[in-house]
Formats: sequence, C-alpha cells, structure tokens
Amino acid sequence: MGSVQLRDIRKSYGPVEVLHGIDLDVADGEFVVLVGPSGCGKSTLLRSLAGLETISGGEISIDGSSIVHLHPKSRDIAMVFQNYALYPHMNVAKNMGFPLKMAKVNQETIDKKVAQAAEILGLAPMLERFPKQLSGGQRQRVAMGRAIVRDPKVFLFDEPLSNLDAALRVQMRAEIKQLHQRLGTTIVYVTHDQIEAMTMADKIVVMKDGHVEQIGAPLDLYDRPANKFVAGFIGSPAMNFLPAVVENGQAVLADGNRLTPAPVGLTNGQTFTAGVRPEHIMITDQGAAGTVTVVEPTGAEIQFIVDLAGTPTLVSTRDRMQLTQGDQVHLAIEPGRLIAFDAETGARLGSA
Ligand code: ADP
Ligand code: MG
Repeated sequence: MGSVQLRDIRKSYGPVEVLHGIDLDVADGEFVVLVGPSGCGKSTLLRSLAGLETISGGEISIDGSSIVHLHPKSRDIAMVFQNYALYPHMNVAKNMGFPLKMAKVNQETIDKKVAQAAEILGLAPMLERFPKQLSGGQRQRVAMGRAIVRDPKVFLFDEPLSNLDAALRVQMRAEIKQLHQRLGTTIVYVTHDQIEAMTMADKIVVMKDGHVEQIGAPLDLYDRPANKFVAGFIGSPAMNFLPAVVENGQAVLADGNRLTPAPVGLTNGQTFTAGVRPEHIMITDQGAAGTVTVVEPTGAEIQFIVDLAGTPTLVSTRDRMQLTQGDQVHLAIEPGRLIAFDAETGARLGSA
C-alpha cells in the first residue's frame, strides 16, 4: 500500500512563506503529477514529502500514519532527480544497488533485485557499463532502477525528463507510464510541462504561487477548468481569452460582433472574459468577422491567428484551408464550448 495524505502543508524560508496550505490525497497506486510554472513550489512540496525539507506546518501521512517525524531514509519513499545523481566511478549494477548496500542488505539479495530492475528497464546488457558510457535516456533509467530496487511505497520524480532532447522525452514519458502500469506503485511526479502532465497523470494538481489552483483528471481540467489560470496553462496551443459582454443572452465582443449564446447563469449587461479553445472555433461563412494575420501550418493542422475585435485569436483546423494573411474570415464557436471567466478574479462563471 502507498496512499499519501497532505494536510495544510506550509513551508517558509525565513519570513517568506512559499507553500500556503496544500491539501492533497494520493490514492494507492495512483500517478499524480504536480504541474505549474517555475517557482510555484512543486519541488518544495515534493522534497517536503521526501523529508528533504522540514515543513513549517501541516501533516503528511502515508497509509494513514504520520511520517513528519521520520528521517528521509525511514519514509519508504524513493526519489528520482532531474540530474540523475549517478556515481561516475560506479558501474550500472553498483549504482542501482547502492541504496541497498547502504541499508546493509546482503549481496545475494542486492544482485537479485538489481537483475530484476535491470530486466524491467531494459538495462540487463549494460550492468557493467559506467555512466559516461550511457546515453541520457539510459542514465535516467539507471536512476529509476536505483529507486525500484528499494521497492518503496511511493516514487517521487522531480522533472526527470528535463535534461533530455524532445524526441527522447516523448519516448521516456511513455516508458515511465508503462513502468507505472507494470509496478502499480504510487507516483508523485513534478513537471512544469503541461503536456507531460496531461499524457502521464491519473490526476493532475495545478499549482501557482504556493497554492493549489485545481485538482482533477487530465481531461476534466481541460474541459472544465476552475479558473482562467488553469484554462490558460493546460492545453497547447493555449485557450483564447476575449473580453465580452452579455447582450440578449449572447456573448458579444468589443466590436459588437456576436459570438454564441452566453453560458447559462450570466446576466444581461455582465462583462466577462470569454475563453475558447482554438479547436472549437470554426471558420465559416457567417459569424464574427475577423482578419487573418498569421498562417502557421504544423502539418497535422493549420493554425490561423485572426484579429477578432482587436484580440489576436488562434484558430486551429485540420482542414487544408487556403487562406493567406489579410483575408477576411468569419468565425463561429461550437455550441457549448465558450467558457466564461470573471474579468477581475478569473474564476469560472456560469455553465455551458
Ligand atoms: P518549483 O519547483 O515549482 O520551480 P520551488 O519549490 O523550487 O519551485 O521554489 C518555490 C519557491 O521557494 C521559489 O520562490 C523559490 O525561490 C523558493 N525557494 C526554494 N528553495 C529555497 C531556499 N532553499 N531558500 C529560499 N527560498 C527558496
Ligand atoms: Mg522545481
């Protein structure tokens, strides 16, 4: 078992509080990803869980028992770092077996556990190699192997793929997901990359400035963001935001163009920020008029930046549309796809 409970976690460095009361439940076997911009407190939270930072307040439990007083070594948690932290003078087998050796496990058991982990990670033919004889992805696997041999209740990963090139990142993220499916161990994984979070997580925790903004399954966050921050952070290309007002039940833009019915629960005359994802905008014969300013073919789709009532608005389509800069177009929004946010606070308003 390896369920984790965080209650009102606070962390200050001197007078500065950087975690402002974090609550989080991680179920046994769950893959939870903490995501948010650099500096929002992800690593601090992870390191607090591992016992590498002393929290200023709150309670951390594993399977219902407090671990706050426990030394990192006694927490039954294994952490994988971004920089791998391998010992250059030790071969792969010794690097992987090192935590067991420190724990005075007998050599026969170490060899067995290392062989098992190497098998799982595809490192069996490389046990005699030294870190400098390995690729970045292989080094990352050794670092994971060193965590696996400990058979911990919880794995922690802090941006493990940041040092890898783009293609390898995509490959390793699938490998880590498969590894989780095979081992079934609880994972708490930190990244600033929302695509990594979306593709890997059972549950995403979006953080900002030491607060949790929203917790949910990837597509829940994508389809039902709680606020403008989450809406803008999750999804690439990002959601469009347009200033709007409700008139006769319609969402109306600054230039008087009507977009679509306003979400239920808004009142006539109310100003708000309209959020629309690029793939939910259709280029049609009627609808709000705008001017194409940029055409970006990505291959699978074409992205158009359209000036809509003074706001550059990204439209993405799989149609091979022959449009060029300066063309006049009309945009319509798929029914029910407009999300309203409070123009001041960014909180979500009404419902679709
Ligand atoms: P993230 O991992 O999300 O990028 P961190 O958890 O590393 O963010 O940092 C959160 C905040 O805490 C940042 O403002 C950072 O400057 C601050 N911080 C982190 N470590 C220390 C430290 N040892 N002393 C003082 N401030 C720190
Ligand atoms: Mg960090």
